[in-house]
Amino acid sequence: MKYGCAVAFAITILCLFYCLVRTKESKKKIAVVGRRVLVVAMISVASNLVQMFSNNEVVYNITYSIFFVSLDWLLYNVLCFTIEYTGFSIIKYVRSKAVWFVLAADSISLLLNPILGHAYTCVQVLTVQNELYYSFISKLPYYIHLGISYILVVLTILCLIVKIACSPQIYRRKYWVILIFLMFIVTGDAVHLIFKTVIDVSILGFAFAGIAVYYYSIVYVSNDLLNRLFSVVVGGLGDGILLFDMDGQCIYANSTGRKMIEVSESASVEEVDEVCGEWLFRNELSRQEDFLYEWTKGKKSQAQHIKVSLQHLQDQKQRHVGYIMRFQDWTVQANEFYREHQLATRDHLTKVYNKSYFLKRAGEYIRQNNEGEFLLVCSDIKNFKLINDVFGMETGDALLVKLAGEIRRRAVHGEIYGRLGNDRFGILLHKKYFSTSEITQWQQNHIYLDDDIRYPIHLYLGVYEVGDGGVPVSVMCERALMAIETIKGGYHQKVAYYDDLLRDSALREQELSAELLEALKEEQIKIYLQPQVVSDGSVPGAEVLVRWEHPERGLLMPSSFVEMFERNGMIAKLDQYVWEQACRQLQKWERCGHGDIYLSVNISPKDFYYLDIYKIFTELIGKYKIAPSNLKLEITETTVMENLEEQLALIKRLRAAGFIVEMDDFGSGYSSLNMLKDICVDVLKIDMAFLKKGEDEERGRNILCTIIELSNKLDMPVIMEGVETKEQVQFLTEMGCHIFQGFYFAKPMSVSQFEKTYVMNSYRL
Ligand code: C2E
Ligand code: MG
Ligand code: MG
Repeated sequence: MKYGCAVAFAITILCLFYCLVRTKESKKKIAVVGRRVLVVAMISVASNLVQMFSNNEVVYNITYSIFFVSLDWLLYNVLCFTIEYTGFSIIKYVRSKAVWFVLAADSISLLLNPILGHAYTCVQVLTVQNELYYSFISKLPYYIHLGISYILVVLTILCLIVKIACSPQIYRRKYWVILIFLMFIVTGDAVHLIFKTVIDVSILGFAFAGIAVYYYSIVYVSNDLLNRLFSVVVGGLGDGILLFDMDGQCIYANSTGRKMIEVSESASVEEVDEVCGEWLFRNELSRQEDFLYEWTKGKKSQAQHIKVSLQHLQDQKQRHVGYIMRFQDWTVQANEFYREHQLATRDHLTKVYNKSYFLKRAGEYIRQNNEGEFLLVCSDIKNFKLINDVFGMETGDALLVKLAGEIRRRAVHGEIYGRLGNDRFGILLHKKYFSTSEITQWQQNHIYLDDDIRYPIHLYLGVYEVGDGGVPVSVMCERALMAIETIKGGYHQKVAYYDDLLRDSALREQELSAELLEALKEEQIKIYLQPQVVSDGSVPGAEVLVRWEHPERGLLMPSSFVEMFERNGMIAKLDQYVWEQACRQLQKWERCGHGDIYLSVNISPKDFYYLDIYKIFTELIGKYKIAPSNLKLEITETTVMENLEEQLALIKRLRAAGFIVEMDDFGSGYSSLNMLKDICVDVLKIDMAFLKKGEDEERGRNILCTIIELSNKLDMPVIMEGVETKEQVQFLTEMGCHIFQGFYFAKPMSVSQFEKTYVMNSYRL
């Protein structure tokens, strides 16, 4: 029996030692405490083992003392281990100096016992087998030690019980195991102490407790716990998860996964496996290889966008162990992406491509289909601004939407189309699908502003033939629009092709633009004067008309450059130069005693965007010391209409400063007679179109008569421009118009010619 126990004790020490070595590998905090438990436990067992082979009282006395001390520290460390293990935050109280002091005092007291014999005394006892051993008789200090030990045990047990009570079922087991070992040791020890047995069998429990400490502090992670946590996490995931074993048999499917392939929550994994197989087959996917597949589930507006992936799983030795199939719903992201894409690529009003995306898509299409013969067609609505002004912006917008819808409806051959801005659309289409006659026919039949407003919409189309020259689509559009410019204003021609002639004129425009600054410096820009004649034959002044005496191209009329400079903004430079020349001329005449002659200069609508008109003219008259009334300012209807209130205020200021403001080309735009009372100009220059011969001659004259009558009533003098015949002078005079300008009297002429004819001789016609 004795030797059997000795062997068991020795094995216990070895066990503890083994656990100690293994815990060395761990860096966990709990492993440090665990090691302390193991070391002290080894000392406890060792002291018992020594006792077995001794029958010497002194040895007993010392080993008892060592055993009791080690028990103190063992129980203390078990408590620390338990606190660490249970995660309670009371460790700082247990590790306090007071506790250490008590334990140290008890230890010293027990260690001194072999000398002082104050805590217990050893007494010889004979066993039934006649073996001698030493038991002990306890004294007060021993009971104090016992009290300390039991307090530590009770605290430890309390910790475990509280933890067990508070923890979910899956965690309880790991606390129960420790508690059972502890109870076993404590009970065994109590039996040994109470019945004074020869051998403390509970010491054997140390081996199991040591292993438990090692196992639970280093190794243990509950599989059950893991499994449960896994299914909680995976089950609750938004993603659908299906797991398959190495043979391809489904072993797990979370509820989202089941929903995705439409199997019920209660279906067995075998059923899931079957449905999954059918799903893969339907979508032409296989379990053999990893894939990432984008799947759209459901109908259009409620469609779900799902990314399905299959991934084979391997162990550390790269052996196939199964695979995971994952369904990720990215409908929200897909819709967001779609929305952003729409915003970035669509015109917000008409929902067709916006300009930049149209240019991009058309460019890509041309590059990818370089075999085909394509046309780039641009459209422009005649008088769109007028439609906006007369019928309101909303009607204008509705027209654009309607037009976009019409294009969309007709684009059945893969045409690419978009809105280029304002009232312009661009369409890239195959040549064979474009027919001018069809378009004309379509326009005649279809387009009205509204069902209620039977205002016919006139659409101009500019066509650019896409060649293989690598011309950017933006340039193609510019060219198609340039073609439109050639037919604008007319009613009959609706389609214009960009051709070489147009390209040449574009090139010419570019060259002229580049030459303007040089031309101004070299004084190639000249002012010509066209006399304005009063009915009595006097010539009180003239209109200043610009001419470009080009060294190579000859005399260029404003029609060949004014509009272009208006487009590129250079008009401001040109006009400023002309105005300065006019002022210089007035100054010259003033100095020669002809200060009664006036000159009227043209102001382009674009000048108002680039220049401070008021400042420039007031400075000019200051600089050349001329009377402001001698410098008449010709503005156009467009200028006023574009920014009514601001322009009216400016006109007021200019008139207040003494300038005479004239409304040029009155009647050529869409000003109404009504407007006359609001536009506070000094003089009305009536557009020469009213004098044109033709079908509407009579009608034109009637309108003319009304304008003249009305302006006379408003005390606003009228100048008629473009007077070419005597007859015209006659009926105009009858109508009440008394100032004329036109070829009948004189064509625009050089300044020297004008001076010679009208100034020096104070000529009267
Ligand atoms: P506008 O201001 O209405 O000038 C009158 C135009 O009618 C001039 O053409 C003149 O030569 C022409 N004209 C005068 N009498 C007759 C006639 O009896 N029959 C015909 N068929 N035409 C007549 P021009 O000089 O070619 O100028 C055309 C337009 O160019 C001007 O129209 C004006 O809008 C613009 N322009 C001319 N000079 C300047 C300038 O210095 N600055 C700006 N911004 N525009 C200018
Ligand atoms: Mg004019
Ligand atoms: Mg005019």
